[in-house]
Amino acid sequence: MDDINTITDRLSADRDASDDELKILIDAEKSDRLRELAARRRMEYYGLDVYTRGLIEFTNYCKNNCLYCGIRAGNSDQKRYRLSKDDILACCREGYELGFRTFVLQGGEDLYYTDSMICGIVSSIKSGYPDCAVTLSLGEKERESYQSFFDAGADRYLLRHETADEEHYGKLHPESMSLKNRKRCLFDLKEIGYQVGSGFMVGSPYQTLDNLVSDLRFLQELMPDMIGIGPFIPHENTPFGGFERGSLKRTLNLISILRLMFPYALIPATTALGTIHPLGREMGIKAGANVVMPNLSPVGVRKLYSLYDDKICTGEEAAECRGCLERRVQTAGYRLTVDIGNVKRGL
Ligand code: SF4
Repeated sequence: MDDINTITDRLSADRDASDDELKILIDAEKSDRLRELAARRRMEYYGLDVYTRGLIEFTNYCKNNCLYCGIRAGNSDQKRYRLSKDDILACCREGYELGFRTFVLQGGEDLYYTDSMICGIVSSIKSGYPDCAVTLSLGEKERESYQSFFDAGADRYLLRHETADEEHYGKLHPESMSLKNRKRCLFDLKEIGYQVGSGFMVGSPYQTLDNLVSDLRFLQELMPDMIGIGPFIPHENTPFGGFERGSLKRTLNLISILRLMFPYALIPATTALGTIHPLGREMGIKAGANVVMPNLSPVGVRKLYSLYDDKICTGEEAAECRGCLERRVQTAGYRLTVDIGNVKRGL
């Protein structure tokens, strides 16, 4: 087997490597060359720009029971909240003034919000802010629902596949959920015309290196525009409360690998990365990420959107959050831009 630098050079040139080679890179202790080539590739596509998305976590109700998730239906200790359309539009107003040109509406799978309510929210945002993109992250829906949101003006949809291995999927999710349906959703979204985001947790319970390679292979099949990965972080009121956090090193290696395999992709430096290390997001940007997603939700509800324990950025006002991230991006040697931040394919 070739050494790590040779494998890295090949991955950079071919945008692909064998399964065994990918496993070596994922697990690499010394990844200087991987970082260097990922940074170079990202510079070719996006220069120094880091895009920002205003995240509005509008409901923490969810009908599902994913075993890793703090807002799962079974967590009866969780205080619940929902934002009204007016609340959401107020977040957008503030966000627009702060320079956000993408709003991400994220929530659990909450049946309180009917398709026509979601369409009404999307079309109000689009008519108020025609120069902005609306990203939805509402979980699994029927194709007709996705189509109606798209027709109402939604531009992008985020739905992490979480793991592309059937058996592993079954260990993370209740029987009512299936990898097959999750994939169906992702391909429906693509066909409809959304810019699609997918991704997975790094270090989730029972995950193997083979699982991670399956994740990369599935992404090659889907070719999403956005790829979000973050370390698994346990939540105490879930069946996985006693499991270890995912590794920082492995997450950073995977960000760099993703940049080399999918040079065009929008890859966030996630809040979860910032939660496991004070400089996690800066490291993520240096490893090849090019998006940050500060929170625009009202401060009063931030702590309630607790997907995992110790989540950062739950106390600051939106302006503080943006200012903080702007400084962090600068520290990493890049610049936060006021831009809709569409994907750049085709170099
Ligand atoms: S991960 Fe998503 S679908 Fe699963 S319980 Fe949490 S909010 Fe619901």
